[in-house]
Amino acid sequence: THFGFSEVPVDEKVKRVADVFHSVAGKYDLMNDLMSGGVHRLWKRITIERSGARPGHTILDIAGGTGDLTKKFSRIVGRDGKVILADINDSMLKVGRDKLIDSGTAGNVEYIQANAECLPFADNTFDIITIAFGLRNVTDKDAALKSMHRVLKPGGKLMVLEFSKTNNPVLSKLYDVYSFNILPQMGKLIANDAESYRYLAESIRMHPDQETLKDMMKTAGLVNCHYENMTGGVVALHTGIKP
Ligand code: SAM
Repeated sequence: THFGFSEVPVDEKVKRVADVFHSVAGKYDLMNDLMSGGVHRLWKRITIERSGARPGHTILDIAGGTGDLTKKFSRIVGRDGKVILADINDSMLKVGRDKLIDSGTAGNVEYIQANAECLPFADNTFDIITIAFGLRNVTDKDAALKSMHRVLKPGGKLMVLEFSKTNNPVLSKLYDVYSFNILPQMGKLIANDAESYRYLAESIRMHPDQETLKDMMKTAGLVNCHYENMTGGVVALHTGIKP
């Protein structure tokens, strides 16, 4: 592999993920817009539309980073609802909190540093949980899915937005060139950090494909599991319900 990432021990992966996000936090939003040509905004908007979020809901945005989804949910759930922006990385969380406070986002958001693998919430707490472009960074994905299942209310919905596998060979080729050549160069130019963006490309390649992730969600105890491909399967939105 390019980064040697798949062969490193677990503790080392945790440290590398932490280093990457400490390093990119300040430039994360800018890089996101540049690298996706702004399309991540569309992927996130669709996620919000499909979420069924309503006033009064309690929502967890885990691996929420700089809080794009949290910001939108906060407007929807209103005064009687609550959104928790949680992330393992305090640099990302801080950038997110500052951004949300600056944008005047209502007082219905809480900021919590937490690991998706062992969420510090009571059973049956949330109506909706989102994890957007986060699961691929988690070391023990099965533990994370189980933990998210545990804290969902019965009938609650888990949504996983993540890079996935396109079955279009042309798109797939373009995407490889993009992620292993153009992306690290942009990372170098803009954030002076090619290595972090090389890691991101590597983590995308290693992430389970649509059907595998769907099975993992079923194994975690979720039902009605399905996914929707976006941008030709470059990204997929998986959803599952806690019975
Ligand atoms: N959800 C945001 C978005 O869509 O813009 C941020 C996505 S960012 C690519 C991935 C985030 O996952 C980072 O903020 C990182 O700190 C977080 N993360 C990585 N491992 C995690 C874990 N085990 N538990 C919680 N968050 C984690």
